[in-house]
This record gives sequence, structure tokens and C-alpha cells, in this order.
Amino acid sequence: KIELNDAEKWINLFVDKLEKNKAELNELDTAIGDGDHGTNMDRGAKAVKDAFAKKTPVDLSELFKTTAFAMIQKVGGASGPLYGTAFLDMSKAAKDNDDLSALVQIGADGIKRRGQSDVKMKTMIDVWQPIADDLKQGPLTDQQVTDALESTKDMVATKGRASYLEEKSAGHLDPGSQSSAYLFESLIEVIG
Ligand code: ADP
Ligand code: MG
Ligand code: MG
Repeated sequence: KIELNDAEKWINLFVDKLEKNKAELNELDTAIGDGDHGTNMDRGAKAVKDAFAKKTPVDLSELFKTTAFAMIQKVGGASGPLYGTAFLDMSKAAKDNDDLSALVQIGADGIKRRGQSDVKMKTMIDVWQPIADDLKQGPLTDQQVTDALESTKDMVATKGRASYLEEKSAGHLDPGSQSSAYLFESLIEVIG
């Protein structure tokens, strides 16, 4: 179960990490993409902060919806619509479901649907899906997040820009998986 107060802290920590790690995300994306993932997510982070400042979300569903809209409108690239879909689907589900593991699974399913993707394609799904599974078993640990992120390193990308590099995409962390790792590290900081 997740409450509004904790979810608000969660998203605020996430966008803080996105701003702080803009350069690192750009660097990861420079190796196997077009170098803009940090810039994209930083724009989204600022949009989320602006939206919360304008209107404090009154419930879980509204919190995720505001996050989704800011991401869809400001992140751009491949990742904007994907994060946007994840949070929008979580927003819809949160109207009558506050089970955290269920919500994260719904977010992962949204990304898969929107991105026509699944695990082992070296995308953010390689963090979202294992973390959704881990959450079903009990409290999340930093090690689980690190393991999921690190698992993308040796993968060959078959979706997204990195797939243009074929075998050469191996040996680098997936940038969207790193930003997703920030999301789940933020969650651990809030709910432990
Ligand atoms: P772009 O590739 O358009 O520049 P970003 O750099 O912001 O967009 O985001 C790239 C990240 O998006 C990748 O590292 C990957 O995690 C994620 N991604 C790309 N395509 C897909 C997809 N089809 N399904 C899931 N995630 C994807
Ligand atoms: Mg990019
Ligand atoms: Mg781009």
C-alpha cells in the first residue's frame, strides 16, 4: 500500500535525482543513443515541479496524472511517452487500487504496450519488470535495483535508438534503465 504523502515524496525525490544526474544520463545516452536522455528527463523534472507548485495533487491518482502529463508534454524523445503512459496507467488504476506492487506492474505493462517492448530488449523495461516482480515478494532493496540496472549492460538492444548499433550496444548501461533506477531508488528512500 502506498499513501499520497509517501507517493508525493517519492516523485519529488525522483525528479530531484533526474536534475542532479542530468549529465550522467546524457553521457550514458551518448554511448548508445543521441545523448539527450538527461536533458529530456531534466525538462520533465522541472515540468513536474512546476505542476505540483501550481496545484498540489489531492490524491494518488491525481499525483500520477500530473506527473504523466508533465512527462508527456516536456520530456519528448522515446522516453517521454513511455514514462507518460506508465504514470497515466498508474493514475487510472490508483482510483481504486493503492497496492504498490500492482501499480508498478501496471506501469510496466503500459510501457510494454506503448513501446512494443518486453524484457531483454535493453530498455527501461529491464528495470521496471524485475522491480515489479521484486515488489510482489516484499520490500525493495537497493541491491535489487542495482542488479536490474546492471543486467542491461551486457544486453544487445533490440528496441529504441540503441538497437541501431546492434552488437555494439552491448557493454553499456541503458540510459532509460538508469533513470528508472533513480525512480525506484527514490521509492526505497521513502518507504524503506
Ligand atoms: P530518444 O531515444 O528518442 O532520444 P531518450 O534518450 O529520452 O529518447 O530515451 C531513451 C530510452 O528510452 C532508452 O534508453 C530506453 O530505456 C527507452 N526506450 C526506447 N525505446 C523503448 C521501447 N520501445 N520500449 C521501452 N523503452 C524504450
Ligand atoms: Mg536519446
Ligand atoms: Mg532524442
